Amino acid sequence: REKLLKENAHLEAITKDNKRVLVYSNVGNIEDIKNAVKCYIDGIGLFRSEFLYMENSHFPTEEEQFEVYKEAVQICTGEVIIRTLDIGGDKELSYYEFDKEENPFLGFRAIRISLHLKDMFKEQLRALLRASAFGYVSIMYPMIISLEELLEANSILDECKKELDSQNIAYNKDIKVGMMIETPASVMEAEAFAKYVDFFSIGTNDLTQYMLAVDRGNDKIADMYDSFNPAVLHAIQKVIDAGHKENIVVGMCGEFASDERACKMLLGMDLDEFSVAFTQVAAIKSIIRESDFEKCKEISEKIRFVHSKKEVNEILNMF
Ligand code: PEP
Ligand code: MG
Repeated sequence: REKLLKENAHLEAITKDNKRVLVYSNVGNIEDIKNAVKCYIDGIGLFRSEFLYMENSHFPTEEEQFEVYKEAVQICTGEVIIRTLDIGGDKELSYYEFDKEENPFLGFRAIRISLHLKDMFKEQLRALLRASAFGYVSIMYPMIISLEELLEANSILDECKKELDSQNIAYNKDIKVGMMIETPASVMEAEAFAKYVDFFSIGTNDLTQYMLAVDRGNDKIADMYDSFNPAVLHAIQKVIDAGHKENIVVGMCGEFASDERACKMLLGMDLDEFSVAFTQVAAIKSIIRESDFEKCKEISEKIRFVHSKKEVNEILNMF
């Protein structure tokens, strides 16, 4: 099997009945991007920008960030979706004092920090815009829970564009902007949010944690942390349907997209883009290539009507 995967790694992810899906990769730094492109990815579905902030003694400047984002799109010629800072929760910075919080995962993190530290956020957005003049950069916001947050982030982005315009600095005027779906609020409001973004990317790591109220890092309840829980599956389907109703692309960058057992089901749910660990690219592509989309769709439809893990397992066995 290993040999076959290697031989077919360069082939596109097209099902037997000619449905093309995108297989992207998740990366955390430039080294990862170099490894990922060797795996014949279609693009980068999640570039976690945290490393720039965590491996530093100060908030990285616009210039420092621009250099890294530019390098990223020069290495990967496909789309590179760069997520704005997703710090907080368990991720801290040595140079910024976070107040002690009772529940850091429900606290001051991700987009909440960016909207609070607007000048810091603008440095990142300007760097991203400037890099978009050199390749296919897309911007993605993490942890959105309300339309107000989304509109505020978009309006700060517009401010940055205007600044660049007035300084005659180049950027891609059609740059795509998306948001992660990783909170129950964003699932419930997906149809409304879809009107203001170009794509969704489902972050099942946090979505599973928040849907089920199960800490993603707590071993004691690890068996409850299950993305196959029907509530999570229904949330995923709802988001895909909402996105498609508004004609936007729906991807997934949580670990669930790398799960070989989930692959045909997600394909059948009509997921457009799988962003996976680069070590899983060949395996996920190969499963897609050996699938019949219409058949998977027929089976995945049944997921909508089941409510127990037993029934979910029965459906998974049909694939
Ligand atoms: C997620 O929550 O699914 C995700 C991809 O983001 P992270 O794992 O960085 O929280
Ligand atoms: Mg997350």
